[in-house]
Amino acid sequence: MPLPNSIEARDIAFHLHPATNAARHREIGPLVIERGEGVHVFDASGRKYIEALAGLWCAGLGFSETRVADAVYQQMKTLPYYHTFAHRSHGPVVDLAEKLVSLAPVPMSKVFFTNSGSEAVDTVIKLVWYRANAMGQPERKKFIARDRAFHGLTIAASCLTGLPANHRGFDLVGPEVLRVTAPDHYRNALPAESEEEFATRLAAELEALILREGPETIAAFIGEPVMGGGGVIVPPEGYWPKMQAVLRKYDILLVADEVICGFGRTGTLFGSTTFGIEPDIMTLSKQLSSAYLPISAVLVNEKVVEPIIEESGRLGILGHGFTASGHPVTAAAALETLRIIEEDGLVENAARSGAHLRAGLEALADHPLVGNVRGVGLVAGVELVLDKQAKSGLPEQPGGLGLLVNTRLQELGVLTRAMGDTIGFSPPLIISLAEVDALLAAFAQALDDVAATLAVRMEP
Ligand code: PMP
Repeated sequence: MPLPNSIEARDIAFHLHPATNAARHREIGPLVIERGEGVHVFDASGRKYIEALAGLWCAGLGFSETRVADAVYQQMKTLPYYHTFAHRSHGPVVDLAEKLVSLAPVPMSKVFFTNSGSEAVDTVIKLVWYRANAMGQPERKKFIARDRAFHGLTIAASCLTGLPANHRGFDLVGPEVLRVTAPDHYRNALPAESEEEFATRLAAELEALILREGPETIAAFIGEPVMGGGGVIVPPEGYWPKMQAVLRKYDILLVADEVICGFGRTGTLFGSTTFGIEPDIMTLSKQLSSAYLPISAVLVNEKVVEPIIEESGRLGILGHGFTASGHPVTAAAALETLRIIEEDGLVENAARSGAHLRAGLEALADHPLVGNVRGVGLVAGVELVLDKQAKSGLPEQPGGLGLLVNTRLQELGVLTRAMGDTIGFSPPLIISLAEVDALLAAFAQALDDVAATLAVRMEP
């Protein structure tokens, strides 16, 4: 039990945490992080941890990049706030919009600014609906998303998110969402089905769904290039080109949710580049500012934006946006982050450190608790099992293995997240090979320790 008046006790007393078991929190309290340095964070007692998920897949620059702090301070002194409603603008927002269009992996036309990944996704839904109406196709409103997708947690974004834990208890009402299978070859492929055959089957599933619903009723398909929150699901060979061909055939927009993948995570600047995706719309956030300040962006191509611009002329206004859309200080943070990513070669570093990380994780594939190792660039997932044949974890306790290994990892000085029984790795882009080695050593140790505990526990 925390001491009275300690920060832990006050956290329990006053703070309702997101994505937390609030009842259990009353018993165990928070892990209080006090400061950061490079890929490390330190708790209130001075203990040092490797942040193996870059916080929430976002702090690409690590936890002590003062160049961003300086850029933010300068901007705060020049123009700490201005808005972008009603034809107003300022330098940082224009510079950032131009920069993002220039970096985009396919021709993009305009940028709409928002403050979180969820707001970006909600904005996509509204822009796509507005466009459908503008084009005289008011019935074209349904979205297609995948099982285990994560697209955020505002009401509309939650509806696209395909994780039961984010739906339970809310009775969500929102956009009509059609579901297709997650491209998880380990879990969802048929016995002996190759990656290519699996991808072909998923594209056929998509086409059958579109025909069943009526292509003229479907607005867009949204997908993360690599699914993050669903358990680091790397699509099988050929998946994206095959899915894309079906969407093109029926003139359905493709939205790449690059909130995690954007800015180097997959070893190139965008997940769309890594997987040959040619999206009509992209959502960006997280590493865009290394999450030092909240900012997100929606990139749209000419085909998407032109009818929207025309319609706003007819209706008098594009009636969407936020007080902090295109905030000068968050834009300055993003511009400096992008400059550092380019100048310091962090995409290349992510590719190099990521290859080292994935090789190290692959080397653990024969460990009795490891069922599946997957990854690309500097993002990886290790799915834990007790029975490799049955691909099953702790009986009656889904996610139990993930919890045990994650807890042990924390004790060994590595912070990450378990998504069910999958341990995620998505460290800052700046991570060195030596720091990857330290992370891998702790993970191997955690696996051994948990295996030993379970062997004792399961002795007859
Ligand atoms: N899209 C994806 C792919 C995400 O991973 C996330 C957050 N993890 C979001 C959207 C939502 O972002 P936010 O939490 O900033 O609303």
